[in-house]
Amino acid sequence: MSPVTPTCLIHNIGALATGDCARPLRRADSVYIEGGLIREIGSGITRAADVVVDAHGITAIPGLIDSHSHPTFGDFTPAQNALGWITHYMHGGVTALISAGELHLPGLPTPPDARTAMALAHLAKRCWDNLRPSGVRVYAGTLLLVPGLTESDFVDLQAVGIRLVKFIFYDYSLLPNGEAERYVGWARKRGIKVKIHSGGVSRSGVSQVAGIDIVKRLKPDIIGHATGGPIPMPEKEVERIVAETECAIEICSSGNPRMVLPLMRTVGASHAFDRVLIGTDTPGGTGVLPRGMLREIAYVSSVAGVAPEVAIAMATGNVARAHGLPQGILEEGRPADIVLLDRIKGSVASDVLDSFAKGDLPGISAVLIDGQLRVAGGSEQTPPPERPVTITRGLA
Ligand SMILES: [Zn+2]
Repeated sequence: MSPVTPTCLIHNIGALATGDCARPLRRADSVYIEGGLIREIGSGITRAADVVVDAHGITAIPGLIDSHSHPTFGDFTPAQNALGWITHYMHGGVTALISAGELHLPGLPTPPDARTAMALAHLAKRCWDNLRPSGVRVYAGTLLLVPGLTESDFVDLQAVGIRLVKFIFYDYSLLPNGEAERYVGWARKRGIKVKIHSGGVSRSGVSQVAGIDIVKRLKPDIIGHATGGPIPMPEKEVERIVAETECAIEICSSGNPRMVLPLMRTVGASHAFDRVLIGTDTPGGTGVLPRGMLREIAYVSSVAGVAPEVAIAMATGNVARAHGLPQGILEEGRPADIVLLDRIKGSVASDVLDSFAKGDLPGISAVLIDGQLRVAGGSEQTPPPERPVTITRGLA
């Protein structure tokens, strides 16, 4: 049992973006939290609470979930020798990270052999189950798929709770032997999601190139960084993803920004916004990007013309649904991971949604994870919001 979790009431919310692509805005000004979960959303809620947050009319969104992250050791990344990066991301509104493989482990042979890949995934899963820097949930232990795995390995993955495997180093010249397709089947049978590194070669220099034909053959659940990580498949192939596959489609900050435009045109034409996920694909050669998720939402809204509340869903509820996670939507019964934010003073935008639509970064005033305030008043990573929240403890 966890220690006593306080109750929390957030009131005077202006706009509430739900993170649910099907219903991205909800008319409500209050959220009541108990036991780390959202218990009630409504207008004018007046329940007594241990912590009361007056939002002063600013916007509430779900905590951002980075669909494509590369954690290694705790709050340190050897990719850029940076300390405290997860805490910095949390100050950028990120409340959960999904590992796309712990492949920055110094000295890791690339590609790893099957036993090393399994050992790495197990160790990462065990460590990250035990560690939440600044409260951030890190879903790690993502197995790097390489030749030589057996079905009993997938039984072991399921037993330890690993939820994602990834094609990146697998040599596709071996595809005629059917092993890779068997991996997909073994994973799917156990509720484990399959992601693929799409496009050109990664910083490792030994990842495999994967275009539309490989994707269609393997049928992964999620096409990792479909617009490049850092190099996408050819534009004509990006445009075919929507109609010719049923995969979730990631857009990452480390990709090719131009390629987001043809992708979003085809997504829009097919009303497939619920298939798009936003991530950063960092830390890595692109760096450490604490504001990466916010910037990608602003980019997709302002340049690709997606409604800001839908772009927010791409960075929250869509990511959670594609990976089988419970959070990401502001709804009764869900984990209370919530970000309160406002336009930055001096912005021409009228509010946060308008900030995203105009391409402006918003300012974060509060971040709650499991209903607990992790940022209270002002973020260390964004300029201050025009209207900071005020927090009262022990009052109704
Ligand atoms: Zn990656």
